[in-house]
Amino acid sequence: MATPIGNLRDITLRALDVLRDVDTVAAEDTRTTRGLLSHHGIASRLLSLHEHNERDRIEQVAGLLMAGRDVALVSDAGTPAVSDPGARLVRELRERSFRVVPVPGPSAATAALSVSGEENPHVLFYGFLPSRSAARRKALQGLRTLPFTLVFFEAPHRVAECVEDLREVLGGARRVSIARELTKLHETVHACALAEAPAWLARDYHEKGEFVLVVGAGEVSRADSGEESEKVLRLLLREMPVSRAAELAAKITGDNRKALYRRALELKDTAGG
Ligand code: SAM
Repeated sequence: MATPIGNLRDITLRALDVLRDVDTVAAEDTRTTRGLLSHHGIASRLLSLHEHNERDRIEQVAGLLMAGRDVALVSDAGTPAVSDPGARLVRELRERSFRVVPVPGPSAATAALSVSGEENPHVLFYGFLPSRSAARRKALQGLRTLPFTLVFFEAPHRVAECVEDLREVLGGARRVSIARELTKLHETVHACALAEAPAWLARDYHEKGEFVLVVGAGEVSRADSGEESEKVLRLLLREMPVSRAAELAAKITGDNRKALYRRALELKDTAGG
């Protein structure tokens, strides 16, 4: 179940009911969760469940459920199993036919996306990129041409080098929203071109705090999608008439049918001549 990403009041009424009513709250860090529970006057029993003991805890949680008890799973902040422990436990419990339900609420990813101003409805939530630059750049190469808004988590001590790699691999023209310390005292959301982001980060110790980076889809993807359409169109033209090929290519690639039709005629002419 989701818990706040900063502001302790960002918790749903249902989440408070569940935290109060369950027999055990499995928590990534019991001290953090104890603070949250105390803030809301809740004294439920806590069980630590973090990335190093998740496997061992599965039997214990399954045992509690078998005995008819209810268990809530929380991480330090936001939604568990979203770049946080919990997925393995959830999968394992489901496989054993236990009922697992979400108690939705805050997540840094959706909070950052909601104030990014990116209109593209297609979003790729990546989580954390690799910590080493070479691996990070390689991962970014794989994302470069995707026509999606990209959402990344990043640790404060790596955010500057990460933004530098984003600029180099994705290009300085793409827009980035740097969402820092959301819902907290020093909350800042700054949107600029990737080319300007390193200089902004270097000012005023902005590298402190927690960060989400939201990168808008770039022109690059459109150019590459043009290449893709061309390939699809050429293949289809070998098998069918121009208008049918244009129609199918538009359906496959999502590109404009009339533009594809014009291009198909050109290709046919060239081939014919
Ligand atoms: N499961 C969590 C969620 O749903 O929000 C995310 C956990 S992940 C281990 C932690 C990362 O989330 C941080 O490194 C940062 O990138 C992002 N994050 C968490 N809280 C944040 C906040 N208040 N402001 C900005 N980013 C935050």
